[in-house]
Amino acid sequence: MRVHLLKSLPVVFLLAACAQPTTQTPYFDSGAVAQEEAVQRAYAARGQQMLNTPFTPQELSAMEQRLAMHASRIVNAGQLLCDKMGRDPATCTYTIRLSTDDQENLNAYADGEEIFITPPMMRFVDTDDKLGTVLAHEYAHNIMGHVSAKKRNAMAGMAVGALADMLAATQGYDTRGTFSEMGVNHGLRAFSPDFEREADYVGLYVMALAQYDIAEAPKLWREMTAADPEGAFLTGSHPSNPERYLLLDHTKNEIVHKVRSGHLLVPNLRPEQG
Ligand SMILES: [Zn+2]
Repeated sequence: MRVHLLKSLPVVFLLAACAQPTTQTPYFDSGAVAQEEAVQRAYAARGQQMLNTPFTPQELSAMEQRLAMHASRIVNAGQLLCDKMGRDPATCTYTIRLSTDDQENLNAYADGEEIFITPPMMRFVDTDDKLGTVLAHEYAHNIMGHVSAKKRNAMAGMAVGALADMLAATQGYDTRGTFSEMGVNHGLRAFSPDFEREADYVGLYVMALAQYDIAEAPKLWREMTAADPEGAFLTGSHPSNPERYLLLDHTKNEIVHKVRSGHLLVPNLRPEQG
């Protein structure tokens, strides 16, 4: 008897440890779970497809057509914004193209004259509003002259660095242009995150004037985090994705308020600029 009790003790403990839920938690049969599994597997497959599938000529030409439609919408809105800001709309006209060189990175960029979006990014922005968010941001970089401002910062940085190299040389040190290089890099990065913030801010006005749903814009940054978790929380050249979400959400409320109260739909300028 004594032996028997000892043997059954672990079983007693095990039963006691397995407490049951106390609420009417719903349970689903395997058929229902399998149905949802099919949906989520499609999500997973889409993510994999986006990353791994090469682009066929057909897909690329479909992208070109889709982009052309949205490009004209963004260009018109960009010109309208410049007009409202008292600038010549003709100076705010930029070409928007599909990037043919870069078929690997989830990216879009502005070079001061044109705007490029990569095929992976075109796949990623699977709704009109998401595409509008990306294009409007890049368009805002060009409208606000960020590329030339960055170049000016880089030149200024190089001048300071070159001076440091020369001073080092007078002391007998050969820096091999290290300070000049550091100066250029510092100049390029100096206002980078601020220019990104401004492109998000001004870009949302472009997006609103192009009649996209600006409520969709902040959400894009949550999806970007899902697609690229490593880059999402980094700061340096860009604000982090959480900050960009907050900035767009705040700007969305600002725009909604202006529309409701009949205010001019232009970004707020700093006091010294206004
Ligand atoms: Zn940007």
